[in-house]
Amino acid sequence: MTKYCLQGPESQKGARQLLENALVENRFPQAVLIEGERGIGKKALAIELSKTLCCTDSEIAPCGHCFGCKLAMDPGNVQGWVIPLETAEANAKSASSVSENSKAKTVEDYKAGYVAEIFKNPYSTSIISSVAQISVDQIRGMMSQFSRASEGVRVVIIAEADRMNEAAANALLKTLEEVPTNTYFILTSSVAGRLLQTIRSRCLSLRLPPLTNAEVEEIVKNTTGETLSPDALGMSLGSPGMAMYYNENIAENETIAFEFLKDSVEGNYSDLFFELDKTFPRGTAAADAAVMMLDFLAFMVNDALRLLANEPVRLTDRRESLEQLNLGRFGAEALEKAILDINSTAAKIAGRKNSAIVALQTLSIGLFEGYKR
Ligand SMILES: [Zn+2]
Repeated sequence: MTKYCLQGPESQKGARQLLENALVENRFPQAVLIEGERGIGKKALAIELSKTLCCTDSEIAPCGHCFGCKLAMDPGNVQGWVIPLETAEANAKSASSVSENSKAKTVEDYKAGYVAEIFKNPYSTSIISSVAQISVDQIRGMMSQFSRASEGVRVVIIAEADRMNEAAANALLKTLEEVPTNTYFILTSSVAGRLLQTIRSRCLSLRLPPLTNAEVEEIVKNTTGETLSPDALGMSLGSPGMAMYYNENIAENETIAFEFLKDSVEGNYSDLFFELDKTFPRGTAAADAAVMMLDFLAFMVNDALRLLANEPVRLTDRRESLEQLNLGRFGAEALEKAILDINSTAAKIAGRKNSAIVALQTLSIGLFEGYKR
């Protein structure tokens, strides 16, 4: 009998055990939904599971060296993936309809680029654009491959499956109602609640829990070679992908967020507005940058709450300057309200309801309003 042995961090052993048991007991479902926070390792597990399902070794799966394992590990095997694309990318011509010496990028080129990036760093949260979607054409294109008969096992990973538009979701649902033999679907999602309930009910769902700090550090080191700053590790909340994201952006954002907080508390608005104008010029990039800065700001106010409750802070390097600012004097209620205000401002900017500058100015004046003297 084959022994199944999926590799991964110890903290997520339970999720792998669930899959291994289903394989051993010969009741493996034809669709699996891997849920969990962003950057927590859903795609990494999807690749490991794809290897296991494709592995032809009779003793241990995944063996890592059979043809099946190699195919599952091959970034060139783009047929095994459905990836959200930006509209312009999805509308690019297909390789089958461009002349051979055309230099224009095809839809397959874009997809191959993303798949290669995912294999390089399956934890990264910044590969797929936040506006990318999975179109019905992508689902249909993927399904047309199955009309051809196949001897071996076929696995399709649908990354960030919640980005399927309605037509795509309905097309996938039809497929899931009658999955071709030897075919498996692995869906990943950090907001699985957005998936059709009818799709979810046809999948074996499992949720990946957060990792320990030691596991996060080890994965980041092995994947990118980087060492994490203590603050990035503290903010990661057990997600290697988020740790990478914060580590990359912390130097600039932590300073801006702290100055925002300080100027706002001290009512130093003219200096603050001047800085905001300089840091967040108009445009889409400014909105994304503002949302990111507000994320850091929310963590800082949260740390002020933690200081008040004598709990360990997440931004250890920032602790001293935060203590000097003494936000605790406003009380827990004011701090909790401030976090809500920050989050709702971020949502407004992300939804492009307000210009970033105006929303940030409004927030800076309203922050701790009624508590400041
Ligand atoms: Zn193998």
